[in-house]
Amino acid sequence: MEKRPCRIAILGAGGLGKAAARFISLKREMRLVAICDQGGYAYSEKGLDGQEIYQIKPQGSVADLFSGGVHCPDSIGEIIALGKSIDGIFVALPNLPNDFIAKIIERFIDAGYSGVFTDALKRTRAMEQMFQLDRGLKEVRSTYITGAGATPGLLTAAAVLAAQSFQQVEEVKIWWGVGVSSWQDYKATIREDIAHLPGYTVETAKALTDQEVEALLDAREGRLEFQEMEHADDLLLERVGVVDSRNKVIVGGIMDTRSSKKPVTTTMTLTGITLSGQKSTHRFVLGDETTMADNVVGPALGYLKRAWWLRDKAIYGVYGSTEFMPMIVR
Ligand code: NAD
Repeated sequence: MEKRPCRIAILGAGGLGKAAARFISLKREMRLVAICDQGGYAYSEKGLDGQEIYQIKPQGSVADLFSGGVHCPDSIGEIIALGKSIDGIFVALPNLPNDFIAKIIERFIDAGYSGVFTDALKRTRAMEQMFQLDRGLKEVRSTYITGAGATPGLLTAAAVLAAQSFQQVEEVKIWWGVGVSSWQDYKATIREDIAHLPGYTVETAKALTDQEVEALLDAREGRLEFQEMEHADDLLLERVGVVDSRNKVIVGGIMDTRSSKKPVTTTMTLTGITLSGQKSTHRFVLGDETTMADNVVGPALGYLKRAWWLRDKAIYGVYGSTEFMPMIVR
């Protein structure tokens, strides 16, 4: 990373966007210069106050910030216009429908923006669309690492490491537990997860009103259990050869929207066969005290530093989080 801090913009100021703002405020190698949400954006060349942003209530907006807040109808367009003052972008936007984030990145490409990006995309079909942007991003000399959250992200990268002990990988099983005290803090995360429940699709989950989401959560006492989710961990592990077929990757978990205590411990369990024919497993276990935001924002910004490092070496285009190690942001 260069000596001067990497000037960061965060797209989306919901649960993850605000947590990322707080994270950056504690780091000297990154400076948060811009952030946006549906209400508007905030920009400061000298740096925004991440702790102040973290305190914004779910119904508030960064447009109301005293320093640099502006109300506007197309805050993404305003961030694109500021492109020359931004080195790196963490995309913490909702992704409903599946191509929502891909379409926004196309706008950056069309405007000729040259920099680095990471996202915390989850769906396999959504990530397939991100890889389609490879040529366009190369043309503008941008570097993008996709799937850089927790799953995919931290846990998928752990699977790449675990696979090194084996001649053949039989299965990668990710079982996650997330506890949040209010669904309002992570609306997009929960709405997108609902799209994985039996009887729901991306389209029907997108169409749910907040009241309908609340009724659904009430009927299940705030807890949602997911089996065999369509998660891009499969695509990312197949892409680097950890598995020879996507169906060897199984992702599921439990979300509790009424308590910040994790309902189950998050694990990544990789089963394989060694050179001498022994079957064994490696397991990566996340500490129960770590929150979803810790496990998404840390990797997303660690991979953003990696993308910046790659771009400095003239390596452009779209890569998955299984292709590189995240770096530590100091
Ligand atoms: P959220 O609902 O709390 O916040 C979304 C933010 O985006 C809000 O500030 C909203 O105003 C803003 N926004 C929406 N449309 C916009 C637009 N057109 N222009 C500007 N801003 C806009 O979301 P969240 O719960 O923080 O989740 C963000 C993303 O992270 C989701 O896609 C979620 O699925 C993903 N996620 C990934 C992982 C992982 O491990 N990979 C884990 C959790 C969440």
